[in-house]
Amino acid sequence: MKQVFIGLGSNIGERLENLRAAVQHLAALPETKVMKVSGVYESEPLGFTEQENFFNAVCELETALQPEDLFLRLKQIEHLMGRPEQYERWHPRVIDLDILLYGSRIVETPMLTVPHAEMHDRKFVLVPLSELADPVHPKFQKPVSQLLGETSDTSMLTRRQILNIDGTNGRNT
Ligand code: AMP
Repeated sequence: MKQVFIGLGSNIGERLENLRAAVQHLAALPETKVMKVSGVYESEPLGFTEQENFFNAVCELETALQPEDLFLRLKQIEHLMGRPEQYERWHPRVIDLDILLYGSRIVETPMLTVPHAEMHDRKFVLVPLSELADPVHPKFQKPVSQLLGETSDTSMLTRRQILNIDGTNGRNT
């Protein structure tokens, strides 16, 4: 089993419910356990700003699924939850699921880059992730706490609430 961190984001509809539903889908994946779920953070959208703020969270999994398999299953969850095949970059989305870290593995294929290529530039990833653990970024060889101290992201982030998800044993009371 590998320790994996998934970034979740939503900025359409019932954003909190979307995050909650996505975690439940993650918990239902084969050979996978949801270990912890961070609090939910609200952040302003990057790029195209005429849209709702994002709700973001990070989820820690233990999984025996290989990175490519996990990635395809994340895409299935996104589609199941009503995400169209293609979004314009930076535009609103029901749910966005990213593999942030997959143990200490480095994956670089046309489809998948792990660690996620932009995680060190995104406070809405680093802040919730650092609530759960302080893993070392295998490419930069730095813990997430250090990346957070060094990030160039100066955007505002507001901690909204804790996700209440039945069936997980994380800090989500
Ligand atoms: P997005 O619009 O944020 O869902 O990302 C678009 C594309 O990013 C996906 O179709 C993936 O092929 C690619 N991608 C690369 N690395 C990752 C990763 N670590 N997690 C999720 N998507 C990724």
